Amino acid sequence: MPAARNPRRSSTFRLITIAASGMGSFVLGLWVLRLGLGNNVGDMSGDAISAVIAALCALAASIAAMSFFAGVDESADFVFNETHFDKLTGLLARPAMVGKIAEAASSTARTGKPMFLIDIDIDRFKQINDAIGYSNGDALIRAFTARLKAALPRDMVIGRIGAGEFAILYPDQMLRCSLDTLIGRLIHDLMRPYQLPSHQQSVNVSIGVVAMPKDGYDPVVLLRRSNLALQNARASGIGDWAVFQPEMGRVADHRRWIESELHGAFERGDFDLHYQPQLDLTSGRVVGYEALIRWRHPERGMIPPVEFISVAEETGMIAPIGEWVLRKACTDARLLPEDCFVAVNISPVQFMTRDFVGIVERIIKDTGIEPKRLELELTESAMMQDRDRAASILKQLTAMGISVAVDDFGTGYSNLAYLIDFSFHKLKIDRSFVSRMETDSNSGAVVSTIVGLSRALGVRTIAEGVETETQATLLRAAGCQEVQGYFYGRPAPLSLGDPALTQGTEGIAHLH
Ligand code: C2E
Ligand code: CA
Ligand code: CA
Repeated sequence: MPAARNPRRSSTFRLITIAASGMGSFVLGLWVLRLGLGNNVGDMSGDAISAVIAALCALAASIAAMSFFAGVDESADFVFNETHFDKLTGLLARPAMVGKIAEAASSTARTGKPMFLIDIDIDRFKQINDAIGYSNGDALIRAFTARLKAALPRDMVIGRIGAGEFAILYPDQMLRCSLDTLIGRLIHDLMRPYQLPSHQQSVNVSIGVVAMPKDGYDPVVLLRRSNLALQNARASGIGDWAVFQPEMGRVADHRRWIESELHGAFERGDFDLHYQPQLDLTSGRVVGYEALIRWRHPERGMIPPVEFISVAEETGMIAPIGEWVLRKACTDARLLPEDCFVAVNISPVQFMTRDFVGIVERIIKDTGIEPKRLELELTESAMMQDRDRAASILKQLTAMGISVAVDDFGTGYSNLAYLIDFSFHKLKIDRSFVSRMETDSNSGAVVSTIVGLSRALGVRTIAEGVETETQATLLRAAGCQEVQGYFYGRPAPLSLGDPALTQGTEGIAHLH
């Protein structure tokens, strides 16, 4: 971080100060000589003149020195304030927080009383900031800070250590409940929507925790570990948290490797799409196919999307990759039966890019796909980032004749009021409910509720991850209209039109 520069001490300011003190001392000297000796200066001895000049010089020098030291003190205060506190929030800035962590670590080593370092990050803050503009972004950070402070005891040490990242030092002896409860409450408070000047904004947070002295003493290592735990939590879902485990280092190495490989893989053409059928539950007919991306690395083989999509989102590679997926799926639709649509997954980051609707429009025009044969699968979190903007994008997509499905439904937000504002055509019941239906009656109740809700909203329902006949029967009983899952067909490469592959078991031609 560059040293802060005091704007009140510019070079022009210094020059003027020096010139003024020099002139002032000179005039003062002459004035004193004339006042004390009248016009008899010439009568004075050389020694007396030297003594007067020396005394004046000493006076000027001491004043100059005093002003210099006062200036240095003031500058030091200024630099301290500039680097110690974060300007936007008034919280400790990262270097100061590192210092506090070092102090806390050495005190836990001395006293043996444990201390937690809690690392909180707003997911995709950079993209949110770009999308809503910097002044809204600043307002969001200030509101977030106020909530964070309100949720913690008064004298807690809190720092802002990144654009959307905060750290807290929480002494174990101050915990009035379990760490579990504390963090659950923090996540709940911090993920409530924020009212910004221009709109309401929702955010997701991920939290990583390290314990001192167990997880180390070096503040840099501790921060790296809390961040590793945080990355791990982020990979496992919305609003999750994790305590640092040593094996998380290996996961981070793998993510770094993926990050370094992604661009080359895209250029090389390592990516392909597989298609999984979606069926009408009553007639058993295939009505559509979901496009699922596949990465075949020349040395390491298949890398599943859960391992690279989030990295692509963080690095911005999701923009070209997502556009490629959409274009390829729309082109491939020509090879699918005419009465089938193609469903494409859209990442929240892609959905929020400035010209998303323009890109979709262009691809439809270039590929000649009928818009009604295109379905976009969007998660709740994509729609919740900036509700007004999401609602307007959905309206434009619907006006173009494209259909929209809400993916992984039931895993995101408990507040369903937003559904009324959005134009969409289908709720996709998350696999987690389907897989528990046979053993857990609550999951069955959730599925029935979602079906009821979709009826009230006038949209369709599809269940994903159907693996057994019993699940299919239960879904039919619940009134679900469409299904997708290994029971009906696994994702497979598109092999229609390629006679060699059509014979194979991998191709999708055998599915209908
Ligand atoms: P998703 O959108 O929920 O996709 C369904 C995932 O469940 C797919 O995993 C699919 O292979 C798997 N699946 C389907 N039926 C069953 C089943 O019966 N049982 C089980 N256990 N799994 C089943 P996949 O292909 O590994 O994709 C994982 C996730 O990666 C997707 O979840 C989606 O969020 C993301 N993804 C995949 N392709 C793309 C893409 O082109 N763009 C974006 N943005 N995300 C993608
Ligand atoms: Ca999907
Ligand atoms: Ca899913």
